[in-house]
Amino acid sequence: MTALLAVEKIEVVYKRVITAVQGVTLTVGERQIVALLGTNGAGKTTTLRAISGFLGLDDARVTEGSVMFDGTRLENRPPHEIAARGIVLVPEREKVFPNLTVAENLIAPVSHGGGDARRQEERVYHFFPRLAELRARVGGLLSGGERQMLAIASALMCQPKILLIDELSLGLAPIVVDDLKRRLTAIRDELSISILLVEQSAAVALEIADHAYVMENGRVVLDGNRERLQGHKDVQEFYLGGADGTRRSYRDVKQYRRSRRWYG
Ligand code: ATP
Repeated sequence: MTALLAVEKIEVVYKRVITAVQGVTLTVGERQIVALLGTNGAGKTTTLRAISGFLGLDDARVTEGSVMFDGTRLENRPPHEIAARGIVLVPEREKVFPNLTVAENLIAPVSHGGGDARRQEERVYHFFPRLAELRARVGGLLSGGERQMLAIASALMCQPKILLIDELSLGLAPIVVDDLKRRLTAIRDELSISILLVEQSAAVALEIADHAYVMENGRVVLDGNRERLQGHKDVQEFYLGGADGTRRSYRDVKQYRRSRRWYG
């Protein structure tokens, strides 16, 4: 497998003093869907920001390690340069412009506009026909699922080589999430792009990911292909629901960790 994206032992520090991510190494191959799993505060969003260049807004930097993409080192480069190379982020919040229509949202990230942008717009409607029906509706009136579709479609307008998606399923009904998963798989297959997916729900991510990394306290504590993680005792217990079928709450996880060193 050729690594399109190779993150090597990065450390990320906020405001010169808060170390949020340490020694994180991960790779995403061409046409691969890779998931980054972990509970709140594990460092998933920070890792995506380090890759996409959006750390600067929060006064943070990659202080060690490297981010290699398609043969070029990109850590601490500005987001517009990184996006121009083909790394496009779908953020967790503020995904769409609420006062612009669906069609205007789609054109907005494409600086040149014009005929090419219109053609590209029609291409993304192929993956999201619902957005074609809603093209004249303003973003603020869309449902959560439609907003997520629009955010992903807007990212596709930039013709990425890799999509970074921060929380695909958060706040969405299971039926909507199932539909999004199918569309992401079709996007990967038809456009031959890679996807790095940050997810709190391991069950959702492991259904479509080829490979996954589990983060805890700013570090990767476990990684493997889908089968390995689905069969891993700790992943089953804490992320997929235990033997009794109930998923543990984060509080349970924290109590458990106090009594036992994780993945020790
Ligand atoms: P969540 O799902 O809650 O976003 P996460 O796994 O994405 O969790 P991060 O948001 O990357 O985790 O947070 C990792 C650590 O970095 C946390 O300890 C958090 O408090 C810290 N952190 C995140 N953003 C900032 C910031 N702007 N300034 C200082 N510390 C931050």
